[in-house]
Amino acid sequence: MCKCTTILSFLAAVLLPGLLAAQLSYDLDIELHDDGRTIYGRSLVVSWVNTASTPTDELYWHVYNNAWSNKDTVFITEGRYYGSTDLPREWGSTEVFNVSMLSTVDVDGNATTSGEKLTFDYVNLVDKTVGVVKLPVAIEPGGSVQVRLEFTSVMPQAFRRSGWGEGGYLHAVQWYPKLGVYEELDGKDQWNCEPYHYMSEFYADFADYNVELTLPERFRNHCVTTGTLEEINNSNGKVVYSSVAEKVHDFAFTVDAEALLLRRTFHEIDYRDDAEEMKISAALGKTPKEVRPQSCEMILLLQPEHAEYANRYFDATAKSLYYFGLWYGTYPYETISVVDPANNARKTGGMEYPRLFTGGARLGMAERTLSPQGVTVHEFGHQFWYGLVANDEFRHAWLDEGFTTFSTNRILDLAFDAPLDTYTLLGQQYYGRAPMTIPSYEEGDKRAMLGLQRWENPESKFFPELSYELRHNNSVQKFLSELPLTTYYPNIEGSASIGLRSSLLRDWGQPLAHPTYDLFDSGLRGVNAYRRPALTLETISRIVGEDVFIRLMYDYHTNFRFKHPLPQDFFDVVAKHAVDAGVDWDSFWQHAYYKNDELDYSAHFVHNDANDNDTYHVEIGVRRRGAFVVPVDIAVTFEDGSVHHGVWDGVDSAKRIEIGDFAVKAVRVEVDPQRKLMLDRDWFNNSKLAKDVEGSDTAWHISMRTMLWAQQVLHYFGGAG
Ligand SMILES: [Zn+2]
Repeated sequence: MCKCTTILSFLAAVLLPGLLAAQLSYDLDIELHDDGRTIYGRSLVVSWVNTASTPTDELYWHVYNNAWSNKDTVFITEGRYYGSTDLPREWGSTEVFNVSMLSTVDVDGNATTSGEKLTFDYVNLVDKTVGVVKLPVAIEPGGSVQVRLEFTSVMPQAFRRSGWGEGGYLHAVQWYPKLGVYEELDGKDQWNCEPYHYMSEFYADFADYNVELTLPERFRNHCVTTGTLEEINNSNGKVVYSSVAEKVHDFAFTVDAEALLLRRTFHEIDYRDDAEEMKISAALGKTPKEVRPQSCEMILLLQPEHAEYANRYFDATAKSLYYFGLWYGTYPYETISVVDPANNARKTGGMEYPRLFTGGARLGMAERTLSPQGVTVHEFGHQFWYGLVANDEFRHAWLDEGFTTFSTNRILDLAFDAPLDTYTLLGQQYYGRAPMTIPSYEEGDKRAMLGLQRWENPESKFFPELSYELRHNNSVQKFLSELPLTTYYPNIEGSASIGLRSSLLRDWGQPLAHPTYDLFDSGLRGVNAYRRPALTLETISRIVGEDVFIRLMYDYHTNFRFKHPLPQDFFDVVAKHAVDAGVDWDSFWQHAYYKNDELDYSAHFVHNDANDNDTYHVEIGVRRRGAFVVPVDIAVTFEDGSVHHGVWDGVDSAKRIEIGDFAVKAVRVEVDPQRKLMLDRDWFNNSKLAKDVEGSDTAWHISMRTMLWAQQVLHYFGGAG
């Protein structure tokens, strides 16, 4: 069946160049060895069309499984730089052989068959994660080439996203040679084919995959793949599946003889949210029927000991199919497969591949923890941001991680109960929070003595310096967590979107524009790829308003579905939709993306100068404390409860603004009263009360102070303050 289709797609390429044939196709015939970790690629036939504007006589390939072949690969070496000394317990590697050219087709459709042997070289002999095949002829723009090769991949023991676990689990990703992207990069056409970096993920072209998998029979009905699966043979201890996937840029599969394979169909009517549906359809100028997502089969490969989580996985996947489909256009594929990784292969959890993603669960997780729903919504979200809109993850991870984080938080806030804090007792989670937690102090810090954690005695005349551990911090924590339950109180966490503001406390060492694979600190990835861009999107949505934002995101997604957008493409969509927002978007992205500017506006003073005619001349002072310039709303509240609203251009670093003459005194000034500027580092300095209001202990003034305090407490618990 596989070979038959190869011939068909070859004929299609010959007869209908550029029409029916996909720009890229992979036909694979592979066998998984009985050891459950060695994959023999009997045949990989790739058909590639040059879609760039210059010819090339090379094909560049990702051979990412070689990242696990020795301790000096780019991935492992960069990992050491970032402080990770982990090594795979059992190495993995891929070997490529018998490479030959099958045919070329020129732009006019003239085919030339060939059987010429080719060599598969590596760009770097220590890090064999990038391979190159030199072709005997250059492929002109619009022309195509068909190449065949064989390979053997030994998968590593579960390590950094891929590999096997004891007990027959195999999560096969980056297991076959996959072409890079030939495109314009840094002003010229070239192969964009980075080695496997520690800090970045993947980037490849959309392709049609036709894969024939021969598996040991124990994996029959214990297998999920990127494609739609069909059993075509079962004999001699082997089961043979065909798996077909169109318009995807990678192919993954997972087998686990012990796991449960559960199926459920998503129907939008079971998850319909009338209010959201009305809002989206009205903003997009469509009928509710037109925005409803289509049905889809959900397939869950679940560890038997996690059977109680089946509903949580399905519910989170279905809600994601619903809301992502509503917001950005329906999920276009027939199936979505969810893998719950084996306990001893947890390192393969929380990752996304087209039409297949991994979650992650532990025993005893309480219901109101959003585990594993949180990771399920996030990894599903990548079907839209990375799977369908496929940005270069080497350089611009924020376009997939940031957009996914943003969308995930919106779904968590909209469709799930807020999670409760938990503590763990004898392996089971209970709701509540320890009344105190003991911070960890360094050697030489006398505060460590307060928690009976360390003995710190500075050097003196009579005693030598002493510093030793009395009790390991973790054991104190453990002791606290085992106190009677009465010492715990339940605590409801704030909204997921507001919670993003906790990243404002972290160092923002490099601008968003800095390539992801080259960030100077591994912690910066969580900020620059995930939370900071999500805060930027929330800021834009609050500035432009929900309706404009709905249109803008829908437009960006649908226009760049099955494409590779660059950051500028998104900036252009924002500028197109948000012309009336009063923001200079070029300047906005200079601050938010190209430069590392901090955003912080503050209120400074409110003055009431008595005029002769029993009125007050009101003047306020506001400050720009960061380099980020953006227009800011200002609200001045008066003693009679009335509010004066205005907008300040936010340009000057300190600005006095005359508000006018009023019969009552102004009592309070607030910058950004609706908290639109989610990127503002400090919301505590946004309000200021007038000092000179007569009788500052009046009921009104006290209630203003109380409100200000309550608001700040809420903001504090919601985020970083
Ligand atoms: Zn992610």
